[in-house]
Amino acid sequence: MRVFSIPMRTRFRGITQREGMLIHGPAGWGEFSPFAEYAPKECARWLAAAREAAYDGWPAPLRDRIPVNAIVPAIGPEQAYAITKASGCRTAKVKVAERGQTDADDLTRVEAVRDALGPGGRVRIDANGAWEVDHAERMIKTLDRFDLEYVEQPCATLEELAEVRRRVDVPIAADESIRRAEDPMKVRAAEAADIAVLKVQPLGGVRNALRIAEACGLPVVVSSAVETSIGLAAGLALAAALPALPYACGLATLSLLEGDVVRDPLLAEAGEIPVRRPEVDEAALTRYEIDGHEWRRRVADAQAIMDAQPVIGVIS
Ligand SMILES: [Mg+2]
Repeated sequence: MRVFSIPMRTRFRGITQREGMLIHGPAGWGEFSPFAEYAPKECARWLAAAREAAYDGWPAPLRDRIPVNAIVPAIGPEQAYAITKASGCRTAKVKVAERGQTDADDLTRVEAVRDALGPGGRVRIDANGAWEVDHAERMIKTLDRFDLEYVEQPCATLEELAEVRRRVDVPIAADESIRRAEDPMKVRAAEAADIAVLKVQPLGGVRNALRIAEACGLPVVVSSAVETSIGLAAGLALAAALPALPYACGLATLSLLEGDVVRDPLLAEAGEIPVRRPEVDEAALTRYEIDGHEWRRRVADAQAIMDAQPVIGVIS
């Protein structure tokens, strides 16, 4: 078990360093990187994902390249245009509803991204749950002049998502509303979304996420939890094993980190990431390795919960 701490290029979820633990087993390397505020019960699912990667490996892929979206943070229009152009992606996800910014900031940013992609590209927006229902309705209808593919988490609660979904024609994706195995079923039952954003670590591994995708019956967008290439490989494995993959995935997130723990990072080429599994590179890992006794405690606490409840996160 090795612990890493990699600086973030831009502040994200209030953190400036991405920390986690790498676990090696007979099947390869797995990543355990729950965010600092997560309690052991939640961490147990993240550990199940790391252990699956290290000890069991993943189901056979059905495709060998995964289309991915560019990520456009809450930046100015010139920068948004440049990032989108440089990404080589045909789909871009634009952050909107940033605290301290105005609706006009969102409008000029989304317009710049549409310009950069041209009429054939796809533009999705992500509000991270920040809008109230009326505000969401108004903004989605306004921004849809740039032809939105979907809106990710316009509001915080399921009830609000369902209300917005009734009021607008643009499809709604649930992201923050899905953090546990049972959440996708709740999203579906509440008729709160058209699309489920699934992440491997919080859902307890690739196989668990596949079961959840099947049970909830919504089209899936696989997203990362801002991981190194070791964690991203699990996301690629999920995207590659899903029976259908109608949308580009949110796995092009390495650009948010200043470095990586492999020699050949999982970067997008012409808007796609080839499905493969890179090895940890000793020199790269050493650059970011920390002592991390705190992480050894976290993994032990999560392991204790897994031992007491071995089927955690599995839908029966
Ligand atoms: Mg999101």
